[in-house]
Amino acid sequence: MVPVDLHCHSNFSDGLLPPKEVARKAAERGCKLFALTDHDDTRGVALAAEEAALHGMQFLNGVEVSASWGKYTLHVVGLDVDPANPVLRAGLASVRAGRDARAQAMSDSLARVGLDNVLEGARKYAENPEMISRTHFARYLVEIGAAKDTKSVFKKFLVRGKPGYVDHEWARMHESIDWIRAAGGVAVLAHPGRYEMGNETMRVLLTEFRRLGGEAIEVVSGSHGAAEVGRFGRLAQEFGFEASCGTDYHATGEGAREPGLNPDLPIGCVPVWARWLQEAA
Ligand code: AMP
Ligand code: MN
Ligand code: MN
Ligand code: MN
Repeated sequence: MVPVDLHCHSNFSDGLLPPKEVARKAAERGCKLFALTDHDDTRGVALAAEEAALHGMQFLNGVEVSASWGKYTLHVVGLDVDPANPVLRAGLASVRAGRDARAQAMSDSLARVGLDNVLEGARKYAENPEMISRTHFARYLVEIGAAKDTKSVFKKFLVRGKPGYVDHEWARMHESIDWIRAAGGVAVLAHPGRYEMGNETMRVLLTEFRRLGGEAIEVVSGSHGAAEVGRFGRLAQEFGFEASCGTDYHATGEGAREPGLNPDLPIGCVPVWARWLQEAA
């Protein structure tokens, strides 16, 4: 295992814990380098940084930008960004601004299958009112017994072709990369194994991501099984990307992995965290 976690969420987006508690959990598990990467918002990073400092854990300001690439929704993690950068701030604000209308449309779609007032219920779970997300919908749908857990919600609802799904235009992929780079950060393609595209399209995506200034891809991710770690380890090397790792922790019980530690990268991958991690002497 490596004591590095470069992808985690707090209740500033769709995680359950406040930033300090996520950082503390990671530190207590032995993490040495940690990034908080909330969706489309960096307002939690200062709190997480404070907590990390108390534990002597290195910390990176991060964000996970929601992006559109053609018909696909992708996530681009920015690591070591300056949260005060005006280009990044305005970009993230513009992405957040689209979420309310989308949430209303999702709720309307669920009402058509007899699930009423889901938006109102989901809002109770969104501690950051600008960041209403499918996860908050999922938690409320579990509350009312529409599915047994959030994982099953995402089989019956909220995904393409099912009630509660609506198409949405996020940041363009090139914008998400530009904002991250404007803020001095490294753009990392998040959990590539989650995108439902064939191998040829994936190769086009990686080529584009590289050309537009992306520097790393997540090889180890809470969303990747062993086969995906192998596949994206090979693709990272072939396309000249550094490799990142992150648990994508949201809440205990909602996914397999706790924050703070990740499995090793496949042999031959260049860890993106070598840029930051100070090895103990
Ligand atoms: P949104 O940005 O509103 O589209 O919400 C995306 C979030 O929903 C992701 O970051 C995950 O936290 C969650 N999510 C999406 N798909 C799934 C899934 N299949 N299982 C569990 N959580 C999911
Ligand atoms: Mn999420
Ligand atoms: Mn994601
Ligand atoms: Mn994430």
